Amino acid sequence: MLHPATELRLIGKSLGYGVVATAFIPRGTITWVKDDLDQNFTAAALQAMALPYRKILETYTYVDREGRHVLCWDIARFVNHSCDPTSRSPGYDLEVAVRDIQPGEQVTDDYGSLNVLPGFETCHCDSPRCRRQIHPDDLLRYTDQWDDELREVFPLIPQVDQPLWFFVREKAELEDVFAGRAPMASSVRNYYKSRG
Ligand SMILES: [Zn+2]
Repeated sequence: MLHPATELRLIGKSLGYGVVATAFIPRGTITWVKDDLDQNFTAAALQAMALPYRKILETYTYVDREGRHVLCWDIARFVNHSCDPTSRSPGYDLEVAVRDIQPGEQVTDDYGSLNVLPGFETCHCDSPRCRRQIHPDDLLRYTDQWDDELREVFPLIPQVDQPLWFFVREKAELEDVFAGRAPMASSVRNYYKSRG
């Protein structure tokens, strides 16, 4: 479920729709969390589907650490990629704002962390940090850099308003991190290893 202070907007002809913040969202805010209404499809279930359904799922899903294609029920499925995203995913089923998001700014994440196959060759995110090519194993290459960004904002999570907290399933794990009883789970935990 995406943060409630967001809406779907037409971003441009080539990019299509995207998700835009309707209010200021401070860094450290959980911007998305996997919830009980999101649908999971195993690779076998996907392969058993007719081609038109497969194409829809390949466009609108991400792949979780167990190799399941996850179809978000709300506008989260329209979140666009950026090589300098507003939100990143630590090793939990959620995303955190790694910088302040201004009203009217597009909410983005990094598809390099979503196990998307086959990746894409021509990123047009216009960021100075653009990698141009987005690969399914970017998560392995950039783990340290992405974890550094996340570790910087992680202590802010209990300090800022969290409208999505109710939906977080890994509350106990997160609270262990906030209390200093455990380190933050690395973003690499979300990497799907046994790809076919
Ligand atoms: Zn880019």
